[in-house]
Amino acid sequence: MKLLVTGGAGYIGGVVAAKLAEAGHEVTVLDDLSTGHADAVHPAVTLIRGSLRHDAKAALGGDTDAVLHFAAHSLVGESVADPAKYWSNNLGGTLALLNAMREAGVRRIVFSSTAAVYGEPEATPITETAPTRPTSPYGASKLAIDTTLAEYARMHGLGAVSLRYFNVAGAYQAATGDWFGERHDPETHLIPNVLGRGETRGSVRINGVDYPTPDGTCVRDYIHVSDLADAHLLALGATEPEGHRVYNLGNGAGFSVRQVIDACRDVTGRDITVEEGPRRAGDPAVLVASSARISSDLGWHATRDLRDMIADAWRFVQERSARVRAGR
Ligand code: UDP
Repeated sequence: MKLLVTGGAGYIGGVVAAKLAEAGHEVTVLDDLSTGHADAVHPAVTLIRGSLRHDAKAALGGDTDAVLHFAAHSLVGESVADPAKYWSNNLGGTLALLNAMREAGVRRIVFSSTAAVYGEPEATPITETAPTRPTSPYGASKLAIDTTLAEYARMHGLGAVSLRYFNVAGAYQAATGDWFGERHDPETHLIPNVLGRGETRGSVRINGVDYPTPDGTCVRDYIHVSDLADAHLLALGATEPEGHRVYNLGNGAGFSVRQVIDACRDVTGRDITVEEGPRRAGDPAVLVASSARISSDLGWHATRDLRDMIADAWRFVQERSARVRAGR
């Protein structure tokens, strides 16, 4: 198939684009490189540097079969400080993309949604029928896009799947030998932060130790980026006209911040020191997914555990610092 991947120079979009190309698809990435990296695009993938608003139509051309849509701002804290940036880029950009798709006759889309649409859960694990009460403009903007997709499916015959990710981690080694992993600046996510400290021997700040959880730190559901990418390939095959499906994606098991740090010590062999800090605004105590729906509908199952994620992320960190040191 001929596929457009928006945001394919970022972490998750980059891994999905690589796997799609390896599966034999013809893949083009549209990315404005505001947070992505041109060298995070697989060599078999064509990169167009541009925005959803101005360049989606040209990037789609006349014969694209489907779109995988990742391009978005994704920092919860930043969205609280600057909501307009999130509404404009995430929702506004998606509307521009959807309209370009209609003009070009492209009727299938897989969308990168998020567990942040649920907010503070009433029950665990979280199913797709749980109430959606996002606690940040980031989550609200993604929920608005899920709603828009449902309406475009109903009104315009679009076939759409929204994948609501929980905590994505790990890295992917392509058949070329290249590693694709997480590179944010600033880095706010737990595992790359801890592994970065493992490299420099600085200490990790734990955001809150007084949550109502067994060890007082937040519990999250971590999913390997490669398992997540496989779900996108399945979702692509499941898009059908006039249909909008929603699937949660996680491992179904929760790990606390302290448990993750312990696993990082174990994998790296480094003595990672911690400092206990205050809570981070907007962090729910426990977020664990039920992925029962995607496993029964599409046969998706997580195949990699937390240790695999940390081992692959660590390999990526080391490969990258070796490259940086060698000036490559
Ligand atoms: N966290 C932490 N220290 C860090 C980074 C994150 O204690 O340096 C905590 C964070 O507050 C949350 C959990 O780790 O409770 C997972 O955070 P992350 O940003 O990785 O993902 P999120 O759950 O926000 O999507």
